[in-house]
Amino acid sequence: MSDKPGIVVTGASGRMGQTLVKLILASDHWQLVGCIERAGSPWLGRDMGEALGTGVLGQIITDDPLPSFARARAVVDFTSPEASVNFAKLAAQARLVHVVGTTGLAPDHHRALDLAAPHAVIIQAGNMSLGVNLLTRLTQKVAQALDLDWDIEVVEAHHRLKVDAPSGTALMLGEAAAQGRGTTLQDAKTPSRDGITGARTPGSIGFSAIRGGDIVGEHDVIFATSGERLVLRHIATDRAIFARGALKAAQWGLAQKPGRYDMMDVLGL
Ligand code: NAD
Repeated sequence: MSDKPGIVVTGASGRMGQTLVKLILASDHWQLVGCIERAGSPWLGRDMGEALGTGVLGQIITDDPLPSFARARAVVDFTSPEASVNFAKLAAQARLVHVVGTTGLAPDHHRALDLAAPHAVIIQAGNMSLGVNLLTRLTQKVAQALDLDWDIEVVEAHHRLKVDAPSGTALMLGEAAAQGRGTTLQDAKTPSRDGITGARTPGSIGFSAIRGGDIVGEHDVIFATSGERLVLRHIATDRAIFARGALKAAQWGLAQKPGRYDMMDVLGL
């Protein structure tokens, strides 16, 4: 029996889930103790290693999280908002570190995570990469330094299967820009543009989403004024950066008290 802490992957057959499982199997820090999928998934009942083509692992993909949560110290969760809220309740009961990478969380989902946080270490971020979290800090600082004569636009591009827009990362960048300006994104966000929109509202923050092919994730924060333009850009070419960030967060979470955290806390930014 390994003395490495146990970790569960939810959404194990998803793009992020598969990436996470491969990294965990190659890691010296974690022991994979559960692979969870949704009820009805065609992956249920299969051996995770066989399904990935890496050989039999003895980890059967299941829709029952309870037995593996009882053996784990942490769960990494890139699924859907409803699923993540449900996993947060179970993670709180089992006193686990719950790393939530799922995006598209509405205020109700955040409130449900808040309710679980007194009993679990919940680390949630719309983007788990070091580069994007640095970009977020830079965005806040630049927005703080520039006056309202500089228009702020966030442009993002993702693969054709992404279901939410703007991306969680774009919203995180918009929130940082709003904070830099001493306001909130709720007050500054421009609804998506189509048709006769009228001129741009001064001080607003706009969003545009591109969807196509297999784009992993690209984000530009554009600061535009008369005669000049500043563009801060992050390009992700491999989703392993998010998985590595999530595992770093889980490791960091093992030493924390229950509560809600984000990647800025993990990275000390
Ligand atoms: P995906 O559709 O490939 O995978 C999601 C998986 O979750 C699917 O296999 C699905 O069956 C499973 N799932 C859904 N409901 C479930 C449930 N109740 N129980 C167990 N499994 C369930 O999507 P993906 O590209 O892997 O992304 C997943 C989520 O992570 C999305 O919200 C995406 O935007 C987000 N994401 C976040 C980051 C980040 O850094 N925070 C990075 C990439 C993706």
